[in-house]
Amino acid sequence: MHCPFCRHADSRVIDSRTSDDGLSIRRRRQCPECGGRFSTIETASLNVIKRSGVIEPFSREKVMSGARKACQGRPVTEADLAILAQSVEETVRQTGSSQIDANDIGLAILGPLRELDEVAYLRFASVYQAFDSLEDFESAIGELRADHDRPRRRPVE
Ligand SMILES: [Zn+2]
Repeated sequence: MHCPFCRHADSRVIDSRTSDDGLSIRRRRQCPECGGRFSTIETASLNVIKRSGVIEPFSREKVMSGARKACQGRPVTEADLAILAQSVEETVRQTGSSQIDANDIGLAILGPLRELDEVAYLRFASVYQAFDSLEDFESAIGELRADHDRPRRRPVE
């Protein structure tokens, strides 16, 4: 890594820190030539293949904006959306692939969105899974109801 101050071709790592979410590493570097200090942030590259075939870098902001639309008027905060986007990123990175289908990102959003707000989940699912009839809504709501009926805690024996 070239020194940004004097363009010296080498630099020494003086500190490495993993970010809180474990998805990036921040390195403090020092130039042995001029002594200048700078930081680099290292993340594994993760690209999204859109339906149009266009490839673009994964963006948490895009995940958040997609989920935000579905959450309009719902009691969901920006912090909730940020946590959702982080969990989506963790899910897609866990696949171990550096190129993810936009479709798989949509799938990865559905789970955490459902935990967050069921109305937002239905909205997102209706667009994302292209619901085209009342029956589609009915079956999605039926699934949510079935989960509600399931006992959350094991009965004490
Ligand atoms: Zn330098």
